[in-house]
Amino acid sequence: MPAFIRKPSSPLLSPPVLLAIALPILVALIVAHWASMQRMDDVSSQMAHRILMQADRIRIEMSQANRASHPTAGQDPCSPQGIQLMRGALLHADTLADVGYVRDDQLLCSALGQQDLPIGKPAYTSLNGFIIRNVVHLPIAQDVTLLATTDPVTGISMFTHPAQVMDIIPDGEPWSAAVVGTGPDGAVLASRGRFDPEWLKHPASGYSGVFLHKRHIVAWERSRRGAYTVFAAMPNAMWAPVVFQSTLLALALGLVASLLLVFAVRRMALRNTSLRYLLKQAIKQGELSVAYQPVVELASGRWVGAEALMRWHRPRGESISPDIFIPIAEESGLMPALGEHLLRTIERETTPLFTRYPDFQLALNFSAEDLCASGFPARLKLASDRTGAKPRNLHVEVTERVFMHLDDAAPIIASLQGIGISVVIDDFGTGYSSLSYLTHLQFDWLKIDKSFVGTVETGAVTSKIVDHIIAMSKSLGIQMIAEGVETQMQADYLREHGVQYAQGWLYAKAMPITELLDRMPPRRMQSG
Ligand code: C2E
Ligand code: CA
Ligand code: CA
Repeated sequence: MPAFIRKPSSPLLSPPVLLAIALPILVALIVAHWASMQRMDDVSSQMAHRILMQADRIRIEMSQANRASHPTAGQDPCSPQGIQLMRGALLHADTLADVGYVRDDQLLCSALGQQDLPIGKPAYTSLNGFIIRNVVHLPIAQDVTLLATTDPVTGISMFTHPAQVMDIIPDGEPWSAAVVGTGPDGAVLASRGRFDPEWLKHPASGYSGVFLHKRHIVAWERSRRGAYTVFAAMPNAMWAPVVFQSTLLALALGLVASLLLVFAVRRMALRNTSLRYLLKQAIKQGELSVAYQPVVELASGRWVGAEALMRWHRPRGESISPDIFIPIAEESGLMPALGEHLLRTIERETTPLFTRYPDFQLALNFSAEDLCASGFPARLKLASDRTGAKPRNLHVEVTERVFMHLDDAAPIIASLQGIGISVVIDDFGTGYSSLSYLTHLQFDWLKIDKSFVGTVETGAVTSKIVDHIIAMSKSLGIQMIAEGVETQMQADYLREHGVQYAQGWLYAKAMPITELLDRMPPRRMQSG
């Protein structure tokens, strides 16, 4: 069987069925993964935000304590009055461990009284100008690491327990988190779990964001009050089960959707199977008839020929379009029977036509399979003999698909032309095939497809295609029939551009042979 003949497909595991199974599952999985990752991003962002709120609260208390501890002008911060101010400030702050006065890396006094303790070199100066020491140990609790923030002007310093910022993380949850001074010099002010310095590379611009880093979803948020940024990292162990659960749910939903879709596809396939059966019966029982659509010479308006188009009228009056039953016939190997039925019908009913109009041109549509059936040219010759026509009265319309496999098609086309039957390229330009066949074969006719005719003078980009087809046909010396002409404007345009023949509802729809004979003028017609 030549490659261009459509092979009957198996409906059980046909591509549509496979697609119906795979597509919903795939879509559900992608959506589920995206949605659960989105949810995890939100959870991480919320955690970073809550830590930031806590850090901001401490920051506010520090500012208040700093303001409340400022000694009046000329007063020694370590005077009894100065220490009293610091004590008052400390009493009002829940989150501070101490308030003191620092000069030359020495804590000289604090709310706890006079001191004289070295507290180490500063870690860095914050973007706001505060001097930050992040590892400070006071003698009253040597094992506790404190964070000291010193006002660069007054030396007033606030001591806080940085771990408290992480208190809002529920015990036992494997979050990692950190508060880091913003800016190139910013040091880690507080951390929990596994802080990774590489996180610092991510916050580029803006105030918050989320990124994936070493199987952690890391959310960050920069404070608008102080010069620090919070990171909260949710490890794989926390989010993987959520993603897994929603993936399972999606899989279940996808499967249900797949089943429904497969059911629908199978129903359609069954409908096709039953249509296939009905079509077989219809051919046997003569439900298929042939209608003839006149072909008009554009210059004179004369009906010079017709295209035979198959019609299927069911006994209860319902009609099934060839666009539905021809593909079914192709898929189920019924094309030869259909082609034979067409020939028998024209043999039976067109004799009066050729008797009255010896030059009448009758165009018949054939599939690739018809064309390749053994003895096809001889069968057509027999049909023309039986109708009393000459082979030159017959046109065989084939679509470009046939020419994709030139080696198979060329000898058949040559033998048809050899006995005088014209071969028409149907639906020209819609075949998505290379036009190289035009250089190997010679044609007398081509049909400009109705999809292109419909665009004439619409301004659509595709309207230019008609002009190209016309130019090409002229240069190859091929006559043109425009199909699907519906308006006078289209007819005028085509005629003015040199198209010789047309078919379409502007002139007449396809009609039974009796009506065609009635509507044809009694005189003998000429063909082009
Ligand atoms: P086709 O060969 O392109 O036939 C032209 C189609 O355009 C016909 O549709 C015709 O009724 C329709 N048509 C004609 N004038 C106009 C118009 O002004 N406007 C519009 N919108 N449409 C118009 P139909 O009869 O439904 O046939 C559909 C297709 O079925 C045909 O397309 C042809 O490919 C196939 N077909 C029909 N009869 C046969 C047959 O006996 N054998 C084979 N192999 N195929 C056939
Ligand atoms: Ca046709
Ligand atoms: Ca067409």
